[in-house]
Amino acid sequence: MRDGAASRLEKGAPVRLDKVSFSYGEAPLVFNVDFAAAKITAIMGPSGSGKSTLLNLVAGFETPQSGRVLIGGVDVSAEPASVRPVSMVFQENNLFAHLSVEQNVGLGRSPSLRLTEADRAAIAGALARTGLAGKERRLPRELSGGERQRVALARVLVRDRPVLLLDEPFASLGPALRDDMLDLVAAVHAERGMTVLFVTHQPEDARRIGEHMVFLDNGLVAATGKVDDFFAGAGPEAFRRYIGAGA
Ligand code: ADP
Ligand code: MG
Repeated sequence: MRDGAASRLEKGAPVRLDKVSFSYGEAPLVFNVDFAAAKITAIMGPSGSGKSTLLNLVAGFETPQSGRVLIGGVDVSAEPASVRPVSMVFQENNLFAHLSVEQNVGLGRSPSLRLTEADRAAIAGALARTGLAGKERRLPRELSGGERQRVALARVLVRDRPVLLLDEPFASLGPALRDDMLDLVAAVHAERGMTVLFVTHQPEDARRIGEHMVFLDNGLVAATGKVDDFFAGAGPEAFRRYIGAGA
């Protein structure tokens, strides 16, 4: 696989969308925002406000119509997703149905699954951390929904990229398991210092692991700031409405 210019970056690269506009054919979405290096930023906003689109633009699954996407100061706008220094976990449909848990995680190390000893050790470590030890040989259909999301998380942990994108990956889990997974993300972040952009609908998730907040409204970056300040009332009226305060 060819390496993109930004893929040699150190961990914790800042992410910047410089007047990025994008349209699916209707009203354009416009993102102009800086994500600080080596922080966890929660991205919140009503359904349809553009959260997934924003992450897809950073990952390279969508291409801006104008503006630039910069990772670690490098313009990656023209780089395909396969060479960007990011990894992403989606809300669902993350796994290859015909591959075992171990193979699905192994894809994070090697697309051809030609694994070295070091790869195998990293895979075993990620499976243990996500509570999947003993389930290596299972197929995705033999797992619960929560276990499948843990496999997807294990796969990005073995990739160890400078930027981690999470698009509501734990939305289908119960609160206790969700907290476990969030705490795992926070622990890995504390060790490795990657930049994390984290979409969530749950205010308590943002408060649990988020430092910064980006609030989207109607395809625009409506406000940015510290999570604590947002919840102390400094966020915009639309944010307070969104989380139901004063409703
Ligand atoms: P969110 O993740 O915040 O719910 P999205 O980024 O998925 O929002 O969607 C933003 C807007 O773009 C919405 O109006 C949505 O209907 C529209 N949209 C998203 N994906 C597509 C698509 N593949 N084709 C057409 N419109 C889309
Ligand atoms: Mg979405």
